[in-house]
Amino acid sequence: MKQSSNIVILPVLMALLVHLWPGSSMAYGHSEGDMSPGLSCEVLTGESLAGPLDSHEKQSSGKPGGPKRPYVLLIGIETLRADHVGCIGYSRNTTPALDAIAKEGVVFSKAMATASWTMPAVMSVLTSLYPEVHGTTNYDRKLPEDVITLAEVLRENEYKTVAFVSNPTLDGRHGFYRGFDLYDDFSVWLGFLGAGKLVGGPNAAPNPDVHQTLTSEPLTRAALRWIEQNHREPFFMFAFYFDPHYDYIPPPPFDTMFDPNYDGSVDGRDIVQEPRKSNRPPQRDLDHIISLYDGEVRYTDTYVSKLLNTFARFGILDQTFVIIFGDHGDEFYEHGKTGHAHTLYNELIHVPLILRWPSKIPKGRHIDALTSQVDIMPTILDYLRIQHQQAMQGTSLRDLIEGRVCGVHDFVYAGGRSHRCAVIGNRNKMILNPGAGPREFYDLVNDPREQNNIYQAIDSSALVASFEHYLEQWSSENEKLAAQFLRGSDFERVRLDEHRLKQLKALGYIQ
Ligand SMILES: [Zn+2]
Repeated sequence: MKQSSNIVILPVLMALLVHLWPGSSMAYGHSEGDMSPGLSCEVLTGESLAGPLDSHEKQSSGKPGGPKRPYVLLIGIETLRADHVGCIGYSRNTTPALDAIAKEGVVFSKAMATASWTMPAVMSVLTSLYPEVHGTTNYDRKLPEDVITLAEVLRENEYKTVAFVSNPTLDGRHGFYRGFDLYDDFSVWLGFLGAGKLVGGPNAAPNPDVHQTLTSEPLTRAALRWIEQNHREPFFMFAFYFDPHYDYIPPPPFDTMFDPNYDGSVDGRDIVQEPRKSNRPPQRDLDHIISLYDGEVRYTDTYVSKLLNTFARFGILDQTFVIIFGDHGDEFYEHGKTGHAHTLYNELIHVPLILRWPSKIPKGRHIDALTSQVDIMPTILDYLRIQHQQAMQGTSLRDLIEGRVCGVHDFVYAGGRSHRCAVIGNRNKMILNPGAGPREFYDLVNDPREQNNIYQAIDSSALVASFEHYLEQWSSENEKLAAQFLRGSDFERVRLDEHRLKQLKALGYIQ
């Protein structure tokens, strides 16, 4: 077990959270089943826009001559389904830290990933471009040089920039390192040896048990160590937690936390290998598998808590714009399989998005409007009042957050692999499958789990025509932007060395 060194911090933070944010996290809750795709929104005015400043906020007020720039903390959580997050309505207490952050800020309950796997989705967060434009959609792809990333913009604006990531698909060589003064993309998922000596790096032996390696603790420790050295001036930190990814093998006490009485033989290992991948187990066993996934989520949530506690310990938490997102979800046989990347149903693309910044972000708002991962970068830049010339496909969520509008998108999109794409509206969703594959259309109000494809029944309707119109518009915009960034050439290829290929094979990402 690797979670000893910082465990003492957790109760302190949780006590602080309870003190600051009393009340039940379920005040924001609703279930996936009654998710209302309509906009039930009230436009706010006047003083209701600003959240009250807590006493501990005083330290963040500006010095003479203008307000101090905020710190920016972007936290990505691997494979986190929105419907398994407490503040988005899950019945289990999987995410007490995220719920507490949501209470002090805003939670978006209808945020969509741009893809159902890590690489393209995270690149969309860092560029505000859909995968079809940024092109980082395979292991031999690299972000075109012309694309300017969030980290590059912030570094240009005098931020120190640092990333700690623990998923090998976020290998810096795909372009993820761009703009970061330090991009730690290899140490954490291979673990640490002894007192902070790094194991890993480009020449390390591949870890055959990468699915079994817990990375949240070493990642948090690496981030903590960096913060200790660098907390005096505002910085941009990107932390990406890996552990909810399969296999589902949470350490004690998280392994039995949500299903203590299970006495069957099924575990959370090799869940995406055949024959387990395609053979739905009996419900009792499936419930147990899901409880193990929930244990991984809860385990990861404790480390998010520790990271935030580090910010609090150095007195910078309330000067920090915190943005938390899930990269995509995971399937539990809703459409016949396990794992992710293979479809664009909501279990794979409906993700959490939570923002907190006490002096700027209203407190306790639960926003049901449709949003996308491409909105994260423009929102950050808007709040930081940084102008950016490059086209972004997302929209700042600031007007939505501050109650001036009830929605910013009629449609958002997902894609990122095999020419499959989805057009997602507030009430309906259309999925285009590769080649001559069948089109799908779902009524998300009456069929939120996308079990009843009604495309055949309504394919000549005005509703479907409107989705096709927006799809065409989106595709055409994508083509123009992609041509602009690529200058007519193909995507730059990345040649991964044998070491990295072995790592990706061990993770099951490539054959
Ligand atoms: Zn992922």
